[in-house]
Amino acid sequence: MKKLIARCAGITIVAAGVAVTAIPASAGQKLLNASFETGLDSFAARATESVERTSEVANDGQYSLKISSRSNEWNGPVVALGSAWSAGETYSFSCAVYQKTGDAVAMKLSLQYQDGSGTNYAQIAEGSAASGTWTVLENASYQIPAGATDCYLYVETAESLCDFYVDSVISELPTQYRRGDVNHDEKIDRQDVLDLLAFLEADTDAEVYLDTADMNGDNKLNAIDYSMLRQFFFYPELTRTTTTTTTTTTTTTVATVNNADWPELHPGDKWYNTADISWIPPGKKTVALSFDDGPVSGQNYASRIQNALTKQGFHATFFYWGSRISSNPGEVKEAEARGFEVANHTWSHPDNLDKMDASGVLNEYNRCKDTLNNLLGVKRDYLVRLPYLKYSTTIANTLPVPFPNSGIDSGDWSGASASAIVQKIQQAAQNGSLNGQVVLMHETYDSTATAVEQLCPWLEQNGYVVCTVSEMFKYNNKAMYAGKVYNSCW
Ligand SMILES: [Zn+2]
Repeated sequence: MKKLIARCAGITIVAAGVAVTAIPASAGQKLLNASFETGLDSFAARATESVERTSEVANDGQYSLKISSRSNEWNGPVVALGSAWSAGETYSFSCAVYQKTGDAVAMKLSLQYQDGSGTNYAQIAEGSAASGTWTVLENASYQIPAGATDCYLYVETAESLCDFYVDSVISELPTQYRRGDVNHDEKIDRQDVLDLLAFLEADTDAEVYLDTADMNGDNKLNAIDYSMLRQFFFYPELTRTTTTTTTTTTTTTVATVNNADWPELHPGDKWYNTADISWIPPGKKTVALSFDDGPVSGQNYASRIQNALTKQGFHATFFYWGSRISSNPGEVKEAEARGFEVANHTWSHPDNLDKMDASGVLNEYNRCKDTLNNLLGVKRDYLVRLPYLKYSTTIANTLPVPFPNSGIDSGDWSGASASAIVQKIQQAAQNGSLNGQVVLMHETYDSTATAVEQLCPWLEQNGYVVCTVSEMFKYNNKAMYAGKVYNSCW
């Protein structure tokens, strides 16, 4: 049974009816740690019941507190919460309870406080204590009500006057978990990715926490979060701490792309499509935004485009101009690490590629390809966007890769404004013609960056996933062939 644990509003919610489990004591600072090994640890009776230290049973150590001779459900052991606790702040509270009536007993860990108008009572945690075994009542993130004074922590029953035992009463500053720490083990690592995937696939006993697994903060867990979590490994700056007091530790795993067995491709070959589409949920409409003419230096358009995509968990294809790569190799590596598709826009972006002979065409292709391979430390081919979309049979018969073209032309290159670009894409989405299209864009315009920043959330809300050209074809079960021009995957 998979288990989603929400921990956003100061309440521990365990989905699917699974009992609350104790979170192991962490490195958090303990404000209260009563084990009753040497005394009552400042606990007392709320009324006239008996509260005494006993060695009859213990959850830890040799002793616990025994509560007997109760005449009301609210009778039980109580301890004052002193100045270490502040109203409006959040803490973890837990205690172990034991009873031996022969039946389960509903038990509560409660708070008594004053708020200016009188005495108030609040429930911190509750649970059904089975007979003859220790049960942990716990709330890992309880916010003491704002304005509360004279706070007391106590243990009571819901509707029984039975004797019971209490041990291991602990309160601490809550452990601060970082976004991406899906399983709250205080590490962000491969296991978090596996746990989130297992949860999404609904076939394991993965436990995931909504507050740290919800990568894009939309209060839902889906493949977008999974995609973003994977990118998180490459981009520790995406770390969002759940509170401002957290110390950020950087966890970086470097992507290693092993294309040692990349086949030798020839003109006419089927595109060797290694795209990973596991992050795209089923039943989505897909669109391949593609960006030409980078990398750029001295402009922030490319990084804005990359960030807008990543923020939404999206991918795109970037066709790089080989002779420009040395001006900003970091941008290309960034694209690769974010899971974007790095692609080839020829070495020098000639305006007459369609007039060149085979050796000229091949030279333009190979110089850009070799530069990309050297930069990224891989061995593979790259999709080609033909400069000015100029095509010839010589090109088709020479290059071993397909040519994604322009199903929808953003018009950014001819001066389209951001709003005009947005409107064009939105209209295509609304009239049903956007799905499966290759969209021609350029990373060299402010208008394009602004449009992409607006379009990414809009497309997500409207059921689209923005992905790379290769991902879009694979997702839609379409092949591409070298030498052919593709405006869409249909
Ligand atoms: Zn171009």
